[in-house]
Amino acid sequence: MEVTVDQDLCIACGDCIEICPEVFAWNEEGLSQAMVNPVPAQVEEECRQAVESCPTEAIKEKTH
Ligand code: SF4
Repeated sequence: MEVTVDQDLCIACGDCIEICPEVFAWNEEGLSQAMVNPVPAQVEEECRQAVESCPTEAIKEKTH
């Protein structure tokens, strides 16, 4: 599983960082960014929750 945060859609609500801090963190622009890709298997469930919780659907799961 790989994820990216669409920087044009993120409204910096912080939900994804709260739900899955192993993957998401603030970048210099004050927006959320995925810091580890691929997502480690042990946090995939949290990461999926973060994807579903994002109010603007800014987190995209990369499909290969
Ligand atoms: S949940 Fe969505 S809008 Fe909120 S900080 Fe994360 S990517 Fe941005």
